[in-house]
Amino acid sequence: SSSVNDDYSVQKTNDDASQSKLAAVKLGYWKDEFLARFVSMSSEGGRGVHRDPEISLGYWARITIIRHYVDLFLAKVGDQAQIISIGSGFDTLFWRIKSEGKKFTRYIEVDFSSVTAKKLRVIRRTNSSALSGLFREDAQENQHTDLHAGDYHLVGADLRQWAELKSKLEEANLDWNAPTLIIAECVLIYMSVSQSEELLSHLTKEFKNLALVSYEQTNVNDDFGRVMADNLEKRGLRLPGIEACHSIELQKKRLVESGFTNGTIDDMNSVFHKKLPAEERNKVLRIECLDEMELLRQSPMPSLSDWRLDQGATRPSHATET
Ligand code: SAM
Repeated sequence: SSSVNDDYSVQKTNDDASQSKLAAVKLGYWKDEFLARFVSMSSEGGRGVHRDPEISLGYWARITIIRHYVDLFLAKVGDQAQIISIGSGFDTLFWRIKSEGKKFTRYIEVDFSSVTAKKLRVIRRTNSSALSGLFREDAQENQHTDLHAGDYHLVGADLRQWAELKSKLEEANLDWNAPTLIIAECVLIYMSVSQSEELLSHLTKEFKNLALVSYEQTNVNDDFGRVMADNLEKRGLRLPGIEACHSIELQKKRLVESGFTNGTIDDMNSVFHKKLPAEERNKVLRIECLDEMELLRQSPMPSLSDWRLDQGATRPSHATET
């Protein structure tokens, strides 16, 4: 059976993620004053999307743990920090951390150019300074898909095409020597394992000081996972990454073979129970009267990887080095 996704179906997964996140934000799972501007552009118009409570809880855990690692990274490396979000979709993290006064040198978002073009239109049309007002410099557009604004860059590229990606990163003034965090939130899974391994290998070779936070589906080889895979296939989607990389052990092997030297991978169930603060966890569980068992029903259970090269950037225990 073929493991080729059509790019259009993959791009549409961003609408789904944005709408689900907005539904959770509206219920108070977390704060995001920027997301609604982007979601109203997407296919369902962002109106009245309903998600089951355990889906919202899963999204909360996902964005909270990623934010946790971003904060650790920024605390460790200071204002030299460079962040690259691959397959960023309509993610709003740049605006959330910037509006909180976090210091970093540049934040680069990469997605297919059809997705970046939509994001760019929202940024351009938002006439209040709510989005562009947070950029360090006036925005310069390129080909209606790319935008450069000092500390914020949005570029269209196919992550499976290294030469194209590399030149787009260089157009964004990327510094290969600066401490860099790559965020891959629910992205690598849409590529084949050899494609994601190739991408990660290029990144570990080119950067001197690199960390990675990756969230992706895991443990698909159970009944729930197969039902989900069947449902996705009806929408023209496959998760080729999962077919060969379906367990934590295999994901770890891929990271090591790509050149990463140390880090952790946890399934989201243990992230939820062991890494997220109990007080916040109990607060979000109360929003829709869930009990702690609910997240366990998520399947396939995704995982969260926090890895780096030897010179690693994110470890808080190194925070006293200068
Ligand atoms: N990271 C965002 C988030 O978590 O809200 C969006 C996640 S969405 C499920 C996956 C995103 O990855 C989509 O925006 C899709 O277009 C992008 N993507 C997948 N494969 C890609 C590729 N080969 N090149 C560029 N972008 C890709």
